[in-house]
Amino acid sequence: MLPKKAKNRYSLTIATFETIIGLEVHAQMNTQTKMFCGCSNDAFGKEANTLVCPVCMGHPGTLPVINGKAVEKAIRASLALKCEIQKNNHMSRKNYFYPDLPTGYQISQYDFPLALKGTVQYEVNGEKKSCGLTRLHMENDAGKLMHRGDVSLVDYNRAGTPLMEIVTDPDLRSAEEASAFVQELRRILIAVDSSEADMFKGMMRFDASVSLRPVGDKKLYPRVEIKNLNSFKALEKAIAYEQKRLTKLWEKGEQPKSEVTVGWLDDEEKTVILREKESAADYRYFPEPDIPPLQFDDASLEKFRAAIELPQEKKNRYVSLGLNEAEAMLLIEQTELQSLFDAVYEKTNDAKRTSSLILTQLIGFLKAANKSIEEAPKKESILELITITDAGTISGNQSKQVLEKMIQTGKSAAEIVKEEGMEQISDTSALEAIVQKALEANTASVEAYKGGKQAALGAIVGWIMKETKGQANPAKVNELLKEQLG
Ligand SMILES: [Zn+2]
Repeated sequence: MLPKKAKNRYSLTIATFETIIGLEVHAQMNTQTKMFCGCSNDAFGKEANTLVCPVCMGHPGTLPVINGKAVEKAIRASLALKCEIQKNNHMSRKNYFYPDLPTGYQISQYDFPLALKGTVQYEVNGEKKSCGLTRLHMENDAGKLMHRGDVSLVDYNRAGTPLMEIVTDPDLRSAEEASAFVQELRRILIAVDSSEADMFKGMMRFDASVSLRPVGDKKLYPRVEIKNLNSFKALEKAIAYEQKRLTKLWEKGEQPKSEVTVGWLDDEEKTVILREKESAADYRYFPEPDIPPLQFDDASLEKFRAAIELPQEKKNRYVSLGLNEAEAMLLIEQTELQSLFDAVYEKTNDAKRTSSLILTQLIGFLKAANKSIEEAPKKESILELITITDAGTISGNQSKQVLEKMIQTGKSAAEIVKEEGMEQISDTSALEAIVQKALEANTASVEAYKGGKQAALGAIVGWIMKETKGQANPAKVNELLKEQLG
């Protein structure tokens, strides 16, 4: 018998640490206008300082008016995130001076936020998890500063954009969990039409708080706050980086003794310390005197709640229509595609046809033309194509060609059909004349058909299609021929 392996009494025991992560998410609401004025909220790609007015520029004597649509969108998001809407809530002024803030204060919410205590269920590697939400509140965004050498430029187009700030509980335990959570959060905001959450356009940004503690410890230690992360990848990489950095500090006994604020350098894939030992900034919050407190009645909240369809529910609905998981996910991730799909399905009530038109033909033709979904024909244009096809003006096959040309040229279905001379001949009297001509020109086939040879009919139809350059409505031609031949 072999001796038991002796326990190594001198093996080093390294304390293992648990990572505690909380997030602050800023999501732009997809309203037509800004939070407190009538300026357009579509600043992306616009010339600097063209979407501004005396209200969002903070001129003396102007009065902000709250955007009701933004409040609705924030309520829908809160309900979808299972938050408790606060019956009485008001806006507060958060005072600070910065060149991108023309008013000298941000209108935000402080002690009476829109909603408290939510939850988001999400999945990471097939495992179901949940993350608590501390609060959701509304506020307006600041402008944008750009630094060029030793000058700084400012664009106020974004100043006044409606934002939701969503703060999580410290429930996340890894970079992977944080990333999976924000992706589900994004899907929820899109599903209830509260935000387009387009990461590329900076419509969703994250601040992450990371701290470590020895496993088993219940206390929270001073955290590192990583500011302004604007992609899922940056969020994941920055948290993983801080987790590693903090582990080394803890192992040396040099863990942070007070809060630290850091920035993430995307190119160098590392963080830099911005501020240490930050004391809570004194923003001198006070209730916004220009905007009355908001109040909601149960009936309208109930109406909003009833209309909510969460991404998971939406996905199940698409799967029940016969779509596969990947197709259903594609629709949930892409609002434009989803809205086209829903519109076509509503009109045709035919999932197979909708799926073939939107998920196969449209996507295929866009790819071939090297165009994005944003460059796809508008909903109305696609519905017009369906109307024209269903009226028998063009055949199903021609409908496909028309869609391809619509994508290539940006023209409408009606224009293309007219230009290409594609109209099917469906007019009965016109077709009767052609049928008469065909019967006279194909006497042999007529005799054969009358003699019981069914296939002879095909030859006569073929003659008509050739004669009309494929424009005769084949179903009607068949019908008329059978009538004539008894
Ligand atoms: Zn304005």
